[in-house]
Amino acid sequence: MSRLPFTLEKQSPGSKARAATFRTLHGDVQTPVFMPVGTQATVKSQTVETLKATGSSVLLANTYHLLLRPGPEVFKKFGGIHNFMRWDRPVLTDSGGFQIFSLPSERSMNEEGARFKSYVDGTPYLLSPESSIAMQRAIGSDIMMVLDQCIPSTAPYAEAEAAMALTHRWAVRSLAARGESPQALFGIVQGACHHDLRKKSAAFLRELPFDGLAIGGLAVGETHAERYEFTGLVTDHLPENLPRYLMGVGTPIDILEAVHRGVDMFDCIIPSQLAQRGVAFTSHGKMQLRRVAYKFSEAPLDARCDCHCCQNYSRAYLHHLVKSDEMLSWHLLGIHNMAFYHRLMREMRASILRGDFLAYYAQRRPELMKSDEDNPVTHPKKTRLGRPRILGDYDIVTSEQGFSSIRQISSGEVMHSVSRPSDEAQKLYVEQSALAGRLLKADGESAAQEFVIWDVGLGAASNAMAAIACFETQYAEKTALLLRPVRLISFECDLDPLRLAAKFPGHFPHLRHGAPHALLEKGRWQHASGLLTWELLKGDFLTFIETAAAPDLVFYDPFSSKTDSALWTPDAFAQLQARCVGKPAELYTYSAATAVRVALLSAGFFVGEGVGTGPKATTTVAFTDARAARVHPLAPRLLGADWLARWRRSSSKFPVNLLEDERAAFERRIEEHPQFRAETS
Ligand SMILES: [Zn+2]
Repeated sequence: MSRLPFTLEKQSPGSKARAATFRTLHGDVQTPVFMPVGTQATVKSQTVETLKATGSSVLLANTYHLLLRPGPEVFKKFGGIHNFMRWDRPVLTDSGGFQIFSLPSERSMNEEGARFKSYVDGTPYLLSPESSIAMQRAIGSDIMMVLDQCIPSTAPYAEAEAAMALTHRWAVRSLAARGESPQALFGIVQGACHHDLRKKSAAFLRELPFDGLAIGGLAVGETHAERYEFTGLVTDHLPENLPRYLMGVGTPIDILEAVHRGVDMFDCIIPSQLAQRGVAFTSHGKMQLRRVAYKFSEAPLDARCDCHCCQNYSRAYLHHLVKSDEMLSWHLLGIHNMAFYHRLMREMRASILRGDFLAYYAQRRPELMKSDEDNPVTHPKKTRLGRPRILGDYDIVTSEQGFSSIRQISSGEVMHSVSRPSDEAQKLYVEQSALAGRLLKADGESAAQEFVIWDVGLGAASNAMAAIACFETQYAEKTALLLRPVRLISFECDLDPLRLAAKFPGHFPHLRHGAPHALLEKGRWQHASGLLTWELLKGDFLTFIETAAAPDLVFYDPFSSKTDSALWTPDAFAQLQARCVGKPAELYTYSAATAVRVALLSAGFFVGEGVGTGPKATTTVAFTDARAARVHPLAPRLLGADWLARWRRSSSKFPVNLLEDERAAFERRIEEHPQFRAETS
């Protein structure tokens, strides 16, 4: 006896797209279907009535959040989530695994399950296959998910294999824990981006008495091409007579592509999350309602949409609500985005039933791709597996935590060795420099001055791409009129690290963007708005200092002084300081070495402590001008008398190449630096 009677109604010719119906404890579900995400037993900003009006037939709820608050006792008291939130249609619950494995720390994992502390009140929990099912039984969902171990889709083979094997053992335990419950249970195919693991996982799970199977571990780091490829590979190995669910996907175009590859069910926070940010999917492409272009528009959001929002309100009103941060904008755009998704699903289903899905697919594909019109993203070509990960003097190393970095073979030095390169770039360079705010014009400024960023040591472009991402976020959220023009200049003598990383975008997700490829080909890239240009100066950084446009901001990230000694000398910093006369600039670097700080001080910089990154407790920031340090939004602490006292005792008190007879003068420059005088006076 099936807990989820399933009827495959039609498979479209020329495509794997299929239409089906399955019966749950709370009614039928017709596929392909999109499930809005109701994290806390509510789809954010919506009521049960608006959800039904837009065509929602099944919701997803998050076991992890509901376990912590309100907790299982409340669900038991109410007889389950349906009565609690007054939703009488089907509900699917996830296992909580995804949230647990996304927690940065504070959890430990073993065969039994994952132990963690509640973010609500610090209570310790064990999330095991059994406790997850127990909670999902208390919630009373129609479809439960097994606990799986989620890892990045880019994880190396051995790690992916171990996670898959554990997921399989947990799948068996989850089935046992379900017992006599009438609730349906789905298994989850894992295996990251490894063909044979995905096949193995599907083959293992299809032999177990599951009511449906999900594809897990995609949409977490792989390229679009990889996602499509692995979705198609897995559905080829799933049984025909069970629903197939692609977890956490996605944008409208992602869903269209996955339906074409044989997937039936989807969930994603995107329609609600983008509504909150003032973004709507429309038949004209993705629209940013914040843009001033809509200020006077009497047109409906989407003339081809019959939703409550489009039938009643103008773009001008929605623009106003978004600009005023009114919660009604979230509600109304949420209604529209939900209606857009559900209409897409209904149209796909109708075309499958008519037998002409392929024609629909061909027509909709370019329309749904329009979403990226203002912000082009290229999809790098799929690289063959097993290609040697070496180019010139560089190779790719993958850390125990699963992130990849570029290593110089001759020196053994790893770029961003201590933490995920994109995290370090974000924290150390973008956040610490308060870049987002500085891309905005000052109040009342009309023709703003160009903001110049020097990216010294392009490497695999982590820092440059973090700066570009910061700009693109500002561009998406603010109007172009508010932004200053930005000139990003990268200095690099060897492009092999970037060329190598660009060949393996699965390992370097920040390179899934047109910009680094354009930089490699043409030495230059420009954002579609024309507001940001990125250029490459190839060669020795020191030879460019005099001629490159003077910087406002310097990301100083060359190899260390052992490998690249010329870039860390007092002379190099003195040249840089001289270039910045007349325009204050600041410099951020990962090094906290006394030799580096003292070299900066001797060159006249005002030097302070930077934020820590990974295991490194501190880094270094430097200002050409004392005023710049004082007005900096994050108020960095300049080195003071305590540091000076430590320096006096330091064994590496002087730069390595300093001659004996220059020492006294050098020492005087440091002792008399106004930075230390200011503190004592
Ligand atoms: Zn609408």
